Amino acid sequence: MSGHLAVVGLGPGDARYLTAEAEAALADAQALYGYGPYLDRVPPRAGQSRHGSDNREERARAAAALDHAARGVRVAVVSGGDPGVFAMAAAVCEEIEAGPESWRRLDVAVVPGITAMLAVAARIGAPLGHDFCALSLSDNLKPWELIERRLDAAAGAGFVIALYNPVSRARPWQFGAAIERLRRHLPDATPVVFGRAVGRPDETVSVTTLDTARAAPADMATLVIVGSRETRIIARPGRSPLVYTPRAAAAAEVSA
Ligand code: SAH
Repeated sequence: MSGHLAVVGLGPGDARYLTAEAEAALADAQALYGYGPYLDRVPPRAGQSRHGSDNREERARAAAALDHAARGVRVAVVSGGDPGVFAMAAAVCEEIEAGPESWRRLDVAVVPGITAMLAVAARIGAPLGHDFCALSLSDNLKPWELIERRLDAAAGAGFVIALYNPVSRARPWQFGAAIERLRRHLPDATPVVFGRAVGRPDETVSVTTLDTARAAPADMATLVIVGSRETRIIARPGRSPLVYTPRAAAAAEVSA
């Protein structure tokens, strides 16, 4: 009896963003594991058990799912967006590396999903049209000083920066501090995109500039994209603006 573990990305929102591969993996599972609100996005199926847990319990959830799969069950662990981006696929790998030999024999599949930064970028144009990076502002798993160093390096090197986990109840000041840090490197007029609950009925997307970004509302469901020196806003009459980063590097960047 060989178990199977699929780590499945649900995409950012409703079922339109679920890939056909992810849908098949969910249909195939005998047991589902995940953070409660993500599990709620998966329609119930007869004969499938569901194991919801709190957002903070990622390692324990991964271990429970691996243990279940090692007993010969077909298990799926669900993540919002893509499971490899600040999510469950790495937690599962951490547990496999630290866990019993039997977990290394399991058939493991990671099923990709549309990650939040791609969904937000698509709504507004092409802010990730050239070199970019992604950073989680959560200092639960790394010290704040390291986040500051990475912000300095990313902005200094000219990357557009996607900021995941900008704010939570336990981390009220980090987002403002990150914006202030980025202002050391970037002009006031640098475009900043806020995408909240993208792909869900209450979706909002807005554009501001770096000098006022600190005051813009951001929460746990918000993904922020901070432009580079090359990112531009195209105003359009009667339509929302387009934000994009051109594919060719500007001469000033090349010689900087
Ligand atoms: N695995 C997820 C990211 C998990 S980290 C993915 O690939 O998208 C959680 C963070 O993702 C949130 O704090 C927020 O910054 C972002 N996020 C997730 N879903 C989102 C959505 N629908 N709209 C905007 N941002 C979202």
